[in-house]
Amino acid sequence: MSPQTPKLPDPNRRLLLKAASLAPLATLAPLSACSPIATPQGDQAGTEAPQWHNWSGSQGITPSKFGYPKNETELRELLTSTDLPVRCFGGSHSFSPLVPNQGLMISVEQMSGLIRHDAALHTATFGAGTRLSNASRLAYENGQSFINQPDIDTQSLAGAISTATHGTGEKLPSLSACTQALRLMTPDGTAHVIDESNPDLLNAARTSLGSFGVITEITFQNAAAYRLEETTRVRDIREAMDIVERERHQHRSIEMFVFPFGNRAIIKTLDFTDKPDLKLIPEDDNATLEWASKLSMNHAWLTSTIQRALGFFVTEDVRRGPSSQLFATPRTVRFNEMEYTVPAENGLAVLEEAVTMLKKSDVNVFFPIEYRYTAAEESWLSPFYRRAGASLSFHQYYEQDYRPVFDLVEPMLKARNGRPHWGKLNNFTTADARRAYERFDDFIALQKQLDPQGRMLNDYMKKLLGGAS
Ligand SMILES: Cc1cc2nc3c(=O)[nH]c(=O)nc-3n(C[C@H](O)[C@H](O)[C@H](O)COP(=O)(O)OP(=O)(O)OC[C@H]3O[C@@H](n4cnc5c(N)ncnc54)[C@H](O)[C@@H]3O)c2cc1C
Repeated sequence: MSPQTPKLPDPNRRLLLKAASLAPLATLAPLSACSPIATPQGDQAGTEAPQWHNWSGSQGITPSKFGYPKNETELRELLTSTDLPVRCFGGSHSFSPLVPNQGLMISVEQMSGLIRHDAALHTATFGAGTRLSNASRLAYENGQSFINQPDIDTQSLAGAISTATHGTGEKLPSLSACTQALRLMTPDGTAHVIDESNPDLLNAARTSLGSFGVITEITFQNAAAYRLEETTRVRDIREAMDIVERERHQHRSIEMFVFPFGNRAIIKTLDFTDKPDLKLIPEDDNATLEWASKLSMNHAWLTSTIQRALGFFVTEDVRRGPSSQLFATPRTVRFNEMEYTVPAENGLAVLEEAVTMLKKSDVNVFFPIEYRYTAAEESWLSPFYRRAGASLSFHQYYEQDYRPVFDLVEPMLKARNGRPHWGKLNNFTTADARRAYERFDDFIALQKQLDPQGRMLNDYMKKLLGGAS
C-alpha cells in the first residue's frame, strides 16, 4: 500500500458500495460539520460578516451583510434600509452559483414551522425557512405526507422549490409543482400573495431561482399520510435497465445507481405499505464511502474493481416506515454534482450513451450515475415543464476535479434536449434556456416587473437572464 492509500476504517466491507449508492440519495453533513453559513447569533451580535459557502465547498463569498429576519416587519426593514443587491440562502445545498452575492444575503431560517393546515384538503402552510425534514415530520404528525421528496431532507422549503427539487416516480411531481401558494416580499418591502388566482405568476414563482423576492411562506398540496416500503436489488447494468423499463410503471417510485466501470447497478423502489416498520434508521456507511472515494481518487486503476465488487458487498434489502423517515438518509461525504433531465421516454437510451462515453474515456469517477423519473408540471423554469422527465445525475468526490466528467457528458445531454437542474453545476446559457423553455422571456418580464432595479439578481442570474441569445 502506498502512503497515499487510506486505511479502511470499518471492517464491515459489505457496505462499501452500498454506501456509494446511497450517498447521492441523501447526503448532508450536519451544518456544524460543514458550516456553510453564518449563524444568526453571530450576525445579531454585531460580529464581522463571516464567509458563506455551500455544502460541497464549490461556492463561497464574504458578503457585506447577512440578515436573519424573524418576521416580515424585520424583513421589510432589512430590504428597505439599503439598496444593496439581495440574494437568499436556505440550506446552501445548491452546487451552482445561484446564491453568492456581495451585497445582502438573507436567510429566513427563523421564519420556520407549520403555520396552518387543512385536514380535509391535505394542504399545509409552512414558514419558508423550514427545513424539509421538519416540514415532513410536522406534516406527518398532522396526518399528511409530502407527495414526494428528494433523497435528502436538509434543504429549506424555499430553496427546494426555487430549483424544482424532485425525488423519483413517473407520476410524482417536483416540490415546485406541489406549491399551491406562496408569500413573497419584493425588495421595495411589498408583500405579495401568489396563488391560483394568477396562474402565470404562480407558475413563474414556483421555480424562481431566488430572483422574484424573498419567499416567506409556502403552502403545499400534500397527500393523506402514508407509509413506504423500500427495496434494493443489484444487477448487471443491462439487466437493471431492462428491469427499470419493465417496472417503471408498476412502482410508485423507481431509481437506479449505475456504476459504469464495474458494470453493476443498484435498483431501488418505493411503494405504499401497511406492514410494520423495518430498519427505520439506515446503516451509517459514511466512513467506508470516504475511504472508497479516496482510494479511487488516488489509485484510478482500482475504480473498476471497487465498482465490480458491488455484488459481493451490497445485499438485497428492505426498509419500511412513515414517509417522513423513508425518503432521506443522512450522509456526510461531500461531492459535486451535475444533473440533466431528458424526455422520460428517451431516458434509458441517454443513460446507455452516457455509460458508453464514460467507459471509453479516461476520466476517473467512483460515484455512480443516479437515474430518476419525475412527472410533467406547469412551473415555467422547471426541468419538468410540460414534459415528464428522466434525470441523470453525475457526481464527483469533492476533492477531485469535477470538470473532466461533467465536461465529457454535458454536450451530449444538451444535444438530447436535456434541461439542467438549476441547483446543480451546468453551463446552460441564455440561448440554451430560451430554446428549452418557451416561457423564458415571460419569466424575465415578470422578474423585471417585480424587481425593476434588478436587486434580486447576482452575477450568475444577471448573465442567465440577460445574456446574449
Ligand atoms: C447532498 C445533496 C443531495 C441533493 N439531492 C437532491 C435531490 O434528491 N433532488 C433534487 O432535485 N435536488 C437535490 N439536491 C439539490 C438541492 O435540493 C437544491 O439545490 C435546492 O435548491 C437546495 O435547497 P437549499 O435550501 O439548500 O437552497 P439554497 O441552495 O440555499 O438556495 C437555492 C435557491 O433558492 C433561493 N432561495 C433560498 N431561500 C429563499 C427564499 N426565502 N426566498 C427566495 N429564494 C430563496 C436561493 O437564492 C437560490 O436561488 C441535492 C443537493 C445536495 C447537496
